[in-house]
Amino acid sequence: EAKGAGKNAFRFFAAAMDSAAQERLQLELRLRAAIEAETLTLQYQPQVDVCSGQVVGLEALARWVDAERGSVPPDEFIPLAEDTGLIVPLGAWVLDEACRQAALWRLTVPVAVNVSPVQLNREDFPDVVATTLALHSLPPQLLKLELTERLTIRDPVLAARQLGRLRELGVRLSLDDFGAGQSSFASLMRLPLHELKLDRSMLANVTDDPASWQVIEALMALARSLQLPIVVEGVETPAQLSALRSLGCHIAQGYLTGRPQSPDVVARLMTLEGLEVNSDTGRP
Ligand code: C2E
Ligand code: MG
Ligand code: MG
Ligand code: MG
Repeated sequence: EAKGAGKNAFRFFAAAMDSAAQERLQLELRLRAAIEAETLTLQYQPQVDVCSGQVVGLEALARWVDAERGSVPPDEFIPLAEDTGLIVPLGAWVLDEACRQAALWRLTVPVAVNVSPVQLNREDFPDVVATTLALHSLPPQLLKLELTERLTIRDPVLAARQLGRLRELGVRLSLDDFGAGQSSFASLMRLPLHELKLDRSMLANVTDDPASWQVIEALMALARSLQLPIVVEGVETPAQLSALRSLGCHIAQGYLTGRPQSPDVVARLMTLEGLEVNSDTGRP
């Protein structure tokens, strides 16, 4: 009797596993189709100088609206793409599209593109970047690559070599998710970076928890000693912004200073900012 029930439970479990795996496979197939059909889109979120309020950069963020599932968040489809290798064509498309748009806008501040460790660890990645810049005649200093802290874990030597090659191209290198605590400082500090980007989780309690204020203060001191500017992500309230200003942060990115927006909305906002942008998105 008990044995029979156990057997049934196992069958049920196996069936549930099967359907989860099925669903994942379906999602993978639809993501592959979306990449091939180029139906993903990019939104752009401003990075703002904390003192002057000027837009000093735009981060490109991938968006996927699936016919069945509706909008799938990047925190779901990026890991799926990384596990299945789809991040390589997906990442190449994001890079191309962001460079195309930046060139079309005649952007005078960098466009930031997220790069997965899977992409960076491929030998040809610096060549892909060089080819894309050349294709769109985008000056390399107008491209910023955001590399996640996770990149140093698997192969720190390869990571450092690839970053060295990218730096030689003249692109800007930013360390995303800084402080999320996945890599040792020792390995991070050896990388040839231009900027540190503080993880959103660091900011949650900055206005009412002295300990979290002190952590940011310490990371700021570290950034200063490395002579690297720091970008703070996830700024949502005026109180957070003023706290960051008094901590000496340089650049803020968050819902307070601008949500991620579609290219046409960004073009309009940037024109209001007084930046020279061609408001054409190049799309019908
Ligand atoms: P990330 O690179 O750290 O990007 C910042 C994320 O924080 C974005 O989420 C953005 O919408 C969100 N954010 C910005 N300001 C605020 C705020 O004030 N409050 C809150 N609650 N959130 C804020 P998103 O677009 O959902 O992307 C999530 C992550 O997915 C990104 O984190 C990045 O790691 C990854 N991702 C997105 N697009 C790409 C891509 O094209 N390639 C790769 N490899 N990864 C990507
Ligand atoms: Mg990023
Ligand atoms: Mg980040
Ligand atoms: Mg992140």
